[in-house]
Parts: sequence; C-alpha cells; structure tokens
Amino acid sequence: MPELPEVTVISEDVAALAVGREVLRAAVFRPDVTNVDPEEFTERLVGKTLRSTGRRGKIIVLDFGDVVGIVHLVISGRVLRLPEWREPDRMNTAVLEFEGEGEPLVLAFTRLWLGYFDLYEPGEEERHPLISHLGPDPFSEDFTVEYLASAFSRKAGVKALLLDQSVVAGLGNIYVDEILFSAGVHPTRKASTLTRDEIQNIHAATRDILRHAIELRGTTFDSYHDAFGETGKYQHQLKVFTRAGEPCPQCGTKIIKSRVAGRGTHSCPACQFS
Ligand SMILES: [Zn+2]
Repeated sequence: MPELPEVTVISEDVAALAVGREVLRAAVFRPDVTNVDPEEFTERLVGKTLRSTGRRGKIIVLDFGDVVGIVHLVISGRVLRLPEWREPDRMNTAVLEFEGEGEPLVLAFTRLWLGYFDLYEPGEEERHPLISHLGPDPFSEDFTVEYLASAFSRKAGVKALLLDQSVVAGLGNIYVDEILFSAGVHPTRKASTLTRDEIQNIHAATRDILRHAIELRGTTFDSYHDAFGETGKYQHQLKVFTRAGEPCPQCGTKIIKSRVAGRGTHSCPACQFS
C-alpha cells in the first residue's frame, strides 16, 4: 500500500473522514493531556463510533454516543492524518485510529500539552468551563444585532469585547482587526459610543469575514478555526493585519500598528472612526 502523506485536516474533514467509523485504537502520550487516566482514555473510546463533530468557539466536540470528547488545540495545535498507527509521542499527543476499508484512518491531535482532549458524559460537556462561559457562535441565531448592541453597552473598548470569548465565541486577534476595518470602526473605540449602523456593520462583517475565511480555510497563524490548523489562503486576503506601513486598500493611507486590548493591532487611521 502506498504510504499516505501526513496531512493537516480540519473539522469538516474529521467529520467527512471519521463519522460513522468505529475507534480501533486510542491513546494519549501523557496523563496531563486528558481529564481521565490514559488507560481509561483508551477503554472509553475503543469500540465507540464517532457520531458527529462540532465546534464551540475554539473547542472541537467529538460525539461518540455515550462519551463526548472535548478537544482544545491552542494556536500551534493541529489535527493531522497520519499514514499509519503510531504510538503517541511529544508531538502527536493523542492518536485515534478508526476502522474502515482501504487506507488506514489515523488522526493525531498534536501538542496537547498546551491544550487537552477531555472525555465527558453526554451533556456534561456543557459544564466545561470553556463551553459554559462561551458567548454565542457568530453563525448562531443568538448572535443578533440586538445581542451585540447589548454586549456593547458595557464600558469597554470594542476590540476587547470582540476578543472576549464570553461575548462572541471563537474570534481571534486577526479577525477582529479585519472585522473592525471592514466596519470602519477604529479598534480603540469605546463600545458604548458605537452607532446602530456601526454595530450593524460589525455584525455583518463578522459573518462575512468568517464565512470567507472558512471557505479559504482560515489563516495559518491565528484563525477562527485555528483549532484545525489549516494552512489557509485567507492570510493573502487580509486587508490590514500584518500590513503595517503598507497603503490602506481603500484610501491609500499607511496602515498603523498599535497595541489595543493588549494585542498587536492594525488599523487605518483614515477609514476607521475613533
Ligand atoms: Zn483607509
């Protein structure tokens, strides 16, 4: 059998590849990458069939029926498809092999010492701290202009609020800068000073930009879907991020880099109202 290359996959790929398949082998490298003993991790997953995958903010939810996997991959974490079974190691911290015809399906969740692959009883995952405190997903019905207007009534900067996972789930630094540029709102603006039109623009830009980024599979360095680590093409679409000193694509003014909400921030001083 020709050896498969090791490739990065994203959540949709995990679903397409593994949903409906039974777990043949499962292992973690170290006890600290999961909330159960390594032996229990194996016992609880082997023989289970992956029913569905989902995403809550930056968390991947893997539904195996009577056990639910909560995977949090931080920035450098990835899901890789390995050519064959390999015992977990420092790099491939959790490895799952699924049954199937033809080529082996082995998925590795990398660098989990910064994140984790926890197991929960169905329903219990809602009590996971990173899930129970999450704001609405930008594509959910709960993420409305009304909702955003009420979230923005707080005395805080608009950028800080958009980065706050309890306000909106899953927005990273890059996307917040791109959203605010698209909406014509300066990142230093106090959220409570935003007009209704500006809030509407931010709401629409959030969905437009994320939809586009997902189509292009995110950026390589900090994506909405950074959990899935895709080598995205969206980085070539960035209008302001990493473009300090370059002309604004709308007006030609130089893009400025500054620090807002503790994060490197890119904006156009002419197009974005402060
Ligand atoms: Zn401009």
